[in-house]
Amino acid sequence: MVSHHSGSYTWDGVEVHPYKEDGGTHFKNVTRQTLFQGGGNLDVEWRYFEIGQDGHSTFEFHEHEHLVTVVRGKGQVLIGDKISDVGPLDIIHIPSNTWHQFRANQGDVLGFLCLVNNDRDRPRRPTEEELVELKANATIADFIRI
Ligand code: MN
Repeated sequence: MVSHHSGSYTWDGVEVHPYKEDGGTHFKNVTRQTLFQGGGNLDVEWRYFEIGQDGHSTFEFHEHEHLVTVVRGKGQVLIGDKISDVGPLDIIHIPSNTWHQFRANQGDVLGFLCLVNNDRDRPRRPTEEELVELKANATIADFIRI
């Protein structure tokens, strides 16, 4: 089966959704497309996320891992306490139980493919206590958008 790219980082038959249906202010200017939801013996979900210029994903933590490939624009990612510049065809592995956030903070959008297991835990955001601890690190404090 082929899902043809239909231009501008959309695919035939794939709907463009706001990042998270439950709204909130912990992310900004993000869309999500589900490109593959698993089938046969490939029990993974493959999504395309696009963060509009100056937007960001949720600062979050979970047991499941992400494998990300940037395909459009540029930005930065925080993984643990390390910030990296990222651009097209960079491969980003987010390990288990590691705080992370993507930002489109380099004067461009940031679009990426993200692979996850279908069987995965729900992401969680920091508690007030954790946030105080995290913000003791100036690098994290300056980067994160909550
Ligand atoms: Mn995540």
